[in-house]
Amino acid sequence: MPELPELEVVREVLTRRLAGRQVVAVTVAPKGGPIVVRDLTGGGFVECITGTEIQSIARRGKFLLFTLSPSSLTLAVNPKLTGRFQLCPPGTKKAGPVHVTLHFRQPEEELRYVDQKTMGQMYLTGDLAGVPTFAEMGPDALEISPEDFRQRLRSFRGEIKGILIRAPFVAGIGNAYADEILWQARIHPYRKRTSLTPEEIACLFEAMRTALQEATAKVREDMGDDVHLKPREFFAVHMRGGQPCPGCGTTISAITANQRVTNFCRTCQPGGLIRGM
Ligand SMILES: [Zn+2]
Repeated sequence: MPELPELEVVREVLTRRLAGRQVVAVTVAPKGGPIVVRDLTGGGFVECITGTEIQSIARRGKFLLFTLSPSSLTLAVNPKLTGRFQLCPPGTKKAGPVHVTLHFRQPEEELRYVDQKTMGQMYLTGDLAGVPTFAEMGPDALEISPEDFRQRLRSFRGEIKGILIRAPFVAGIGNAYADEILWQARIHPYRKRTSLTPEEIACLFEAMRTALQEATAKVREDMGDDVHLKPREFFAVHMRGGQPCPGCGTTISAITANQRVTNFCRTCQPGGLIRGM
């Protein structure tokens, strides 16, 4: 579930709390740990991280990148749908099944990787190009220019929502924020990309920036330093099926396809005749 806004705030918090600190020990839980951990260095996940310092934490799309010092290795974490971090003193109640723990001292703290469905991945590598899907990622959704957005969009076909959540187009957007962005842009999620006018594409770009920036500010406010939380109270349409649209009061639609729910407002986002909406 974490998308760009959540990961951006997690990056800020972890940078403030962990940058410059030494990882004194690493624990990989016997059950889920080996599924989550991928050592691309051949030197051993635990061995290579223990004793190193967290030099910096960056975000690229839906990856968090921990640079370790002095090894310059990167711990690249892709939490996918269900992964989260928990930063807390030892003994704190677990936010879910803990697969990997990095231990810190002064103060004694743990950075836990928690993943309900063991879907996410933690890669240790000296070369990010070797991390699956990393090299194929398009520009970050907060960094792409309007011109680049328009140009890149041309090479993707199909329904606009499906394109927005494809990392090779822009990185950082998933199912939830795609719904929010399209609602803000007043574009039906099942519109074909080829049917969008230049004005609608410009509007979509603006909506993407605004929705992601506003959401980041709200997540920052609601999450604080509790990086394991999933603040979602502020959504306009996503997971709001059956409730009134905050824009016009029409009941928000919920369509499930490919195990993914899509929420939108038929009044604010007209069109999409192909699926009989
Ligand atoms: Zn509406």
